Formats: sequence, structure tokens, C-alpha cells
Amino acid sequence: MKKVDHIAIAVSDLEKAKKTFKKLGFSFEETHEVSAMKVETAFAKIGESHIELITPTSKDSTVKKFLQKKGEGIHHICFEVTNIEASIQKMKEKGFQPIYDKPQKGAQGLVTFLHPKETHGVLVELIQRGFGEREHNHE
Ligand code: ZN
Repeated sequence: MKKVDHIAIAVSDLEKAKKTFKKLGFSFEETHEVSAMKVETAFAKIGESHIELITPTSKDSTVKKFLQKKGEGIHHICFEVTNIEASIQKMKEKGFQPIYDKPQKGAQGLVTFLHPKETHGVLVELIQRGFGEREHNHE
């Protein structure tokens, strides 16, 4: 793992949340819809890391369930890795069960997650930034 890539905050109204964080001095990149995960996300860079605001786009999004159960708040912490496939392999060898066996396309790269049950209550995301030859991901 290279560094903390981002900390994600689940919000019920993305535009409202962006406004709040803009007031604090954050500037956001364009909003992405990640259809595989039924969410919309907006990233703001701070130094070497980012914050991610994440909001559900569907009733059966896991983020919707999170909001219903816990309300707004920190949703996951993401660590950057150099090679997501190798990281998934290593985690499995050490007895973890990544939520996605195959890396998924997130808003900013290839990702997988570790269930909070395995990591003391924190949803952990791993990201390999970028999509290889593909510059953007507008799915
Ligand atoms: Zn994330």
C-alpha cells in the first residue's frame, strides 16, 4: 500500500454537501456516476490525498442502505496500491475475502473492497489509479 488515497463521506444530497465542503476551501473535480455501484461521487484533492463525497443513485445501492442505517458520515477509507490484481491475490493468501475478486471500475481507477467485518468496522477500499490506456470513465 502506497498511501491513503481518499476518505469517503456518504451524503444524502451531493450538491448540498459539495457546497459545504467548498466553503471549507475544497474544490471538486467533475461528478462521476459509477453505475456498477449505483452511486455518484465527487472528488476533491487535498495535498497527496482526496476526499470523496458519495451518494446513492438507486434505492438498492449499498450506500442508500448505509445512509438509512447510520446516517451521513465516513463511509470508507481508500488506500492506493500499485497493482490491484496482485493486492487481491495477496489479501486472499492472508485469509481476507475481498468483496470483488476481480477489480471493478470505480470513478478514478480499479478498485476492490474489504468488508468491515474483516477490518474492525471500517470499509476498506483499495485503488489502482487510472484505467490503463483509457483516460476517462464515463459509464
Ligand atoms: Zn472511494
